[in-house]
Amino acid sequence: MRVKCVLCDSIETIDSYCLQAKRLRNRKITTYMCPSCYERIKVNTEKRISTGRFQFNREIKKEKHLT
Ligand SMILES: [Zn+2]
Repeated sequence: MRVKCVLCDSIETIDSYCLQAKRLRNRKITTYMCPSCYERIKVNTEKRISTGRFQFNREIKKEKHLT
């Protein structure tokens, strides 16, 4: 099946029976990211976490409840 990357609009062809195609059909994931965009997002997320700007709001709330 042909899928369009949500970030760079490139059309990729993926195996219709692969896990990703199944997930797209079952709406477990609604967007497709090509491998290069996926890598870029992953790297950016890891960078954000390592700089400490990424806030774990849920965990902070939980801790307040406990004290
Ligand atoms: Zn892309």
